[in-house]
Amino acid sequence: MRSPVAPRSLHALVSLFYPATCVVCSENVERSQYLCDGCRSRAPRIVPPFCAKCSEPFPGAITQTFSCANCAHRVLHFDCAVAAYRSRGVVRRLVHQFKYSGERYLRFPIADWLSETMRDPRLSGGRFDAIVPVPLHPARERERGFNQATLLAERLGDSTGLSLYPALERIHYTTTQTVHDRAERMENLRGAFRLRKNRDVRDLRVLLIDDVLTTGSTLSECARVLKEAGAVSVHAATAARA
Ligand SMILES: [Zn+2]
Ligand SMILES: [Zn+2]
Repeated sequence: MRSPVAPRSLHALVSLFYPATCVVCSENVERSQYLCDGCRSRAPRIVPPFCAKCSEPFPGAITQTFSCANCAHRVLHFDCAVAAYRSRGVVRRLVHQFKYSGERYLRFPIADWLSETMRDPRLSGGRFDAIVPVPLHPARERERGFNQATLLAERLGDSTGLSLYPALERIHYTTTQTVHDRAERMENLRGAFRLRKNRDVRDLRVLLIDDVLTTGSTLSECARVLKEAGAVSVHAATAARA
């Protein structure tokens, strides 16, 4: 059921009369904060060692001969995919609520998690020409009312000064990804994206944005299309990874 007042304005309105509260546990917080210290500290941060390509964390130390199970035996077309948090616990819960309950104000704390990727050496040294959000199929976007990747990319654009360039469109309404294994996901996504009309990514260094990386197949397929259209590099950043 849709509330007659958009959640964001409702949240803003409520915050005029009541103290600001944590979006997870309702504890009072500073007005500029969305999470209390306790909930923020429970967000599962990804710490080394992890895969340089897809950020998959490994238990223990990396030996000389390690290989990432997620990257093995396939080509991932992005240069690397960076996430600062795992999609678990409070992170998973908020992202889920953001996407499926239409609580748009949750883009603020989630974009904060996304923006932490910009301090990762794999991204902080790079210069980017454009931020490209992973598109939703228009039917899915209508149903949801927004594209979560676009809302997060807008916030990242504001904080980095990089311009948003929605260069891609999704042309296949694929079934829910979670039922497929890795190989099926790759196959399922083939041809799902294309460059939008009158968009030009030639010679651009692209920062590709999505909310969550699950296996990396979606980001890889977007990167493949962008590179085929002439992008010189495609680095991906997500608020979280599985
Ligand atoms: Zn809290
Ligand atoms: Zn990997």
